[in-house]
Amino acid sequence: MIELLWLLLPVAAASGWLAAKQSIKAKSATSPFHLTPEYFRGVNYLLNEEPDKAIDVFIQLMEVSSETVETHLALGALFRRRGEVNRAIRIHQNLISRPSLSASQHSLALLELSQDYRRAGLLDRAENLFLELVNSEEHEIYAYRQLLDIYQQEHDWEKAILTARKLANVSPEPIHFIIAHYYCEQADLLRQQGLQEAARQAIQQALQVDPHCVRASILEGTQAVDAGTLEQAIRAFQRVEKQDPDYLTEVLESLQFCFQELQRPLDFTRYLRHILERYGGISPMLMLAKLINHQHGESKAADFIVTQLHKRPSLRGLDLLLDLVISNPDSISRDHLLLLKDMTVQLIKNKHLYKCHHCGFKGKTLHWQCPSCKQWNTIKAIQGQENG
Ligand SMILES: [Zn+2]
Repeated sequence: MIELLWLLLPVAAASGWLAAKQSIKAKSATSPFHLTPEYFRGVNYLLNEEPDKAIDVFIQLMEVSSETVETHLALGALFRRRGEVNRAIRIHQNLISRPSLSASQHSLALLELSQDYRRAGLLDRAENLFLELVNSEEHEIYAYRQLLDIYQQEHDWEKAILTARKLANVSPEPIHFIIAHYYCEQADLLRQQGLQEAARQAIQQALQVDPHCVRASILEGTQAVDAGTLEQAIRAFQRVEKQDPDYLTEVLESLQFCFQELQRPLDFTRYLRHILERYGGISPMLMLAKLINHQHGESKAADFIVTQLHKRPSLRGLDLLLDLVISNPDSISRDHLLLLKDMTVQLIKNKHLYKCHHCGFKGKTLHWQCPSCKQWNTIKAIQGQENG
């Protein structure tokens, strides 16, 4: 009986809506729902719990005409929303097969059907319909966006790049930085396949499309480290500062490695000081403190941290300070500090280190595309006090 309810409700609503619409038009319209024998046949199917046959009857009853197209569309969309995708598909396919539809009604029905296919996971069929829809001026941008979604889902970066370039020609929104990410995705795959030269070219393409693509610089640097060309790696990693200093945290460890390998530890210390003075941030401060500890001992490092904590209070800075004090056996309040230390470790462990500034998503790793809102470049390390 639940089936009966769900089917009759939309039909009733649709026919009521249609009747209202027709009365507004002041037409002596005939209702599409006469209580004909056919209608009772449909109800009978429902009572026998054969809803698919019932739908066929009702669809036939509600003949497709310019007056009822919208009702069919509403009914189909309703079925899709309820997860009854196969029924939605039947209604929309039925619509499309009618030659009486106007061009704009036809593309509207195509649009609905393509959404049904997406919902049903029939991506190749959805793709074909969207490829048809990009020719309609009305739905062009929407269709390109849907195609992009599909290609992203299928990791078909080549098609994604081609489609995004076409979209860029008709859409006012900037998407060059997304195209750069597609090239980076491509480069990632090529590297996994051992195709280093092709990967290198994809990375350069990314930088060409979006000179501010941090991800491409990190990829270039990582590739250079693998190839042993450390000077080039340093150049690529240091480029991040000009592209977007908020991402510097991601390259500091790699930079430290490169400078160490090249026996240039002082250059690295100098670079860290420059970064810290210019942009602040916890990571360069912690790194520098560890270097000072290593080169000049605990008390110098503690002095440095206390000065820094004074400028920018942070739990992680405090944590490192506690490490230093605890390792000092003369400390009188050692037990107290151990308690504090436990607290900070707990706090850091529970903290999310990355946050999407578009939707607020938080996570422990860097995603280039936010898993929650699907925006690109919106996730960054949480800086300052908030980072704990
Ligand atoms: Zn987000």
